[in-house]
Amino acid sequence: MEFLRKEIVLATNNPHKLREYREMLGPLGFIVLCPHDLAIESDPEENGRDYRENSLIKARALSELSSLPVLADDSGLEVFSLLGFPGLLSSRFAERCGNYREAQSSLVRMGKDAGSLEARFVCTICYLEKKGARPLFFEGECRGRLLETPEGTNGFGFDPIFQADEGGLKFGLATEEQKNRVSHRQDALRKLAVYLAI
Ligand code: IMP
Repeated sequence: MEFLRKEIVLATNNPHKLREYREMLGPLGFIVLCPHDLAIESDPEENGRDYRENSLIKARALSELSSLPVLADDSGLEVFSLLGFPGLLSSRFAERCGNYREAQSSLVRMGKDAGSLEARFVCTICYLEKKGARPLFFEGECRGRLLETPEGTNGFGFDPIFQADEGGLKFGLATEEQKNRVSHRQDALRKLAVYLAI
């Protein structure tokens, strides 16, 4: 079989997410581009009711502007004792808190008050082969717990307060490669990769 080399565009302006996708899809022969690589600006309002709707909003907006297959993801951190908060509102919660350091300590405090720091990261990827195509969704999760105090500065967002159950990996101390082996994004991408490979 000829080795596949296929361009795909990822609907994100987040350099960390872009690197994670490149590292995960590169070995499968995919060249992952971002809107900036194509001189495109796409920043639709994420006003969906769930992760699927938000990932679809981002994928559709980008596929209006590019003829390449599109990937978009929507993700969040869910604390079980807080009934999944902040979840879909993760980045908005951080904005409200002023910065991620504040958001991290507020969330840990809230989880402790509610009696448990068990949490999970979740990710939904939407794949749109072309404009107007039927969207496909792939979901992933990474279970773990919030750390009482932030550890490390690697990654982004809530990484410094998250410890995965798998291998006890602390995301703030993990290399990108280590995080990519267990992350919610990797879990969703693994399902997508099976689809893309055939
Ligand atoms: P969005 O998927 O770009 O809308 O962002 C969701 C938000 O969830 C991010 O801004 C972070 O606050 C949080 N989040 C999602 N995935 C991760 C991750 O891998 N590490 C740390 N925070 C994350």
